Amino acid sequence: MTARIIDGKALAARVRDGITSEVAALAEHGVVPGLAAVIVGDDPASKVYVGMKHRASAAVGMYSRQAELPADTTQEDLERVVADLNTDDEIDGILVQLPLPDHLDPQRVQELIDPAKDVDALNPYTAGRLAIGDPTFLSCTPYGVLLLLEEAGVDTTGARVTIVGRSNLVGRPLANMLTLKGRDATVTIAHSRTTDLAAVCREADVVVAAAGRQGLVTADMVAPGATVIDVGTNRAEDGSLVGDVDFDAVSEVAGAITPVPGGVGPMTVTMLLQNTLEAARRRRGPAEGA
Ligand code: NAD
Repeated sequence: MTARIIDGKALAARVRDGITSEVAALAEHGVVPGLAAVIVGDDPASKVYVGMKHRASAAVGMYSRQAELPADTTQEDLERVVADLNTDDEIDGILVQLPLPDHLDPQRVQELIDPAKDVDALNPYTAGRLAIGDPTFLSCTPYGVLLLLEEAGVDTTGARVTIVGRSNLVGRPLANMLTLKGRDATVTIAHSRTTDLAAVCREADVVVAAAGRQGLVTADMVAPGATVIDVGTNRAEDGSLVGDVDFDAVSEVAGAITPVPGGVGPMTVTMLLQNTLEAARRRRGPAEGA
């Protein structure tokens, strides 16, 4: 079997076209969705990510602002910046780019973000709302995985899904999303202490790899015809970007698979835009039917 490639780039472009139209419709009511990114220090990867988010929001017609703070910013100063953004009416979505320098407490900062503006969905309140089955915002990468599964035509109802990775950024919220009423998957979360990862993956209709380990998911770990979503991003020895899945070999077994790059990656920023649009609608949009 040769797997169908699930094209995240094309899907992201389609979703962004939809967002662009909806942003234009909101603009007719005088509302321009606004996204603020807070970045502390000079981490080059963080700068690239924030730059990408800035360009993506501009491209769909949103307003975006960057608060660039020096590496020696105090916790108090960072919290003040977030508090100011919470009360800034032009700003609908706030994200604090991680990682923060070691002397800063990321959890405390995430907790301060107004849940109505928590478009990265990392505030424990937002995560808790999802965990009790009543989500406010869905965190961007797992939200993108849901759309990729829809794109692949996967009906998650009753499907067995194995997620490799239990982080608060990807694995855990994805498990909560897939077990929501209406998605109804049967989910196994595997992690670094899982025994016989291969067996746990082989019994799944869908394998989502989110461990950050190059080559972790091999062809013998995937059931024939299964759908494989590769969230991992790793630098190979030659400097190229690769996922957690042995793409060439697994493509011979799986029914559908996402590539790296061009799979999950483009969806993550897209879902941030979707959440920012949604936040603007809820905060400032016209009343239903207006
Ligand atoms: P993390 O390091 O916080 O978590 C990794 C998880 O994988 C942990 O729960 C750990 O238990 C598990 N794990 C590690 N080694 C394992 C092994 N050998 N077997 C089974 N489980 C193992 O990472 P994260 O933030 O969740 O990110 C995971 C990967 O996804 C990284 O490569 C990251 O770069 C990538 N990522 C990509 C995007 C995107 O937009 N494409 C977004 C977020 C994360």
